[in-house]
Amino acid sequence: MKENNENSWNDELKGRLKKRSQLEEYIELEAAQAAWFTQSEEKGDDILPFMTSRYYLETALAAGPDGRAAILRQIIPSAEEFVVKDYELSDPLGEAKYSPAPRLVHCYPDRALILVTDECAMFCRHCFRRSFTGGMKGALTDAELDPILEYFRCKPEISEVLLTGGDPLTLSDDRLKSIISRIKDVRPEMIIRLCTRMPVVLPSRITAQLVAMLGSYDGIWLVTHFNHPSEITIEAAGGIRAMRKAGVPVLNQTVLLRGVNDNLETLSSLFRRLLSKGVKPYYLFQGDLAAGTSHLRVPLEEALRLTAELKDLISGMAMPRFAVDLPGGGGKITLPSQHHQLEREGDFFTVKGLDNEQYRYPAN
Ligand SMILES: *Cc1c(COP(=O)(O)O)cnc(C)c1O
Repeated sequence: MKENNENSWNDELKGRLKKRSQLEEYIELEAAQAAWFTQSEEKGDDILPFMTSRYYLETALAAGPDGRAAILRQIIPSAEEFVVKDYELSDPLGEAKYSPAPRLVHCYPDRALILVTDECAMFCRHCFRRSFTGGMKGALTDAELDPILEYFRCKPEISEVLLTGGDPLTLSDDRLKSIISRIKDVRPEMIIRLCTRMPVVLPSRITAQLVAMLGSYDGIWLVTHFNHPSEITIEAAGGIRAMRKAGVPVLNQTVLLRGVNDNLETLSSLFRRLLSKGVKPYYLFQGDLAAGTSHLRVPLEEALRLTAELKDLISGMAMPRFAVDLPGGGGKITLPSQHHQLEREGDFFTVKGLDNEQYRYPAN
């Protein structure tokens, strides 16, 4: 934690790298990476731009060979992103179907999700909300929050709200505090889940002031996004420690990614290290069927094998739930499941979604 300069994170955010030339000051691009930059100029606004914090790029360069490759694969786009499978979607979770108000998603009876901003400290190449993030829509306004709060007033069954985006911790402390307190005014008992990658990609954001503000409320949970043990730096661990000391519990969700963490050794070491820092591994997600991400996805069959072995290898506390979001709004199901049995049909599995409809998911 940088006690001396509370707002250095804002300068770091402003100094995010967005240009090929800035990246090339650090590393030499591979052919497929260079091809992305060349071709992206013709594609216009339809693609997720390149962007990273300097800190996260430097974390990659300071890591061992495995950590370096794993982090760079999340940072640097590849021309493989231009390969779009016919089963891939621009809104893979079907969130539009469950949106009763702009920026509000209500898919499960007792939980709702607010897209508080489309800003991030970096763009993850595996982003499943890539058609929303970086769209220059900016921070949630009070005028946008009004109908959302009205909706909460009409739905007493909602007991938990996820603040996500984008990354909610790109907002200023004041804006975040205002959103949280307006939600708490409507429902004091509301559980608020802050879904953020800032502890991983811009840990200076975890200032003493932010931590004190979040710690002043009951029922705030931080859910972060570590994908590789090399991301757990001294700075990242410091931010987590500060949150925990202030009484903010920390969970983690990991995305299973080809060439990043798709082996037993990396996953077991990631989850053990998180647990040793007081972070509970909550979810391990199968890569969503987002357009242009097939090169980063692990085939579901292989993912099931890997997670079954992992479960036998590590402690119950270290083991996250393995979950798949069924394409087009079938919901999040945890696997293996008695209730959601996978049936093989050619190159696809069929499986019953949370709405009891049948959904198809590619097997490999
Ligand atoms: C994942 C998700 C949640 C939270 O689900 P949990 O299983 O409680 O983590 C809530 N709403 C939406 C739309 C989601 O995608």
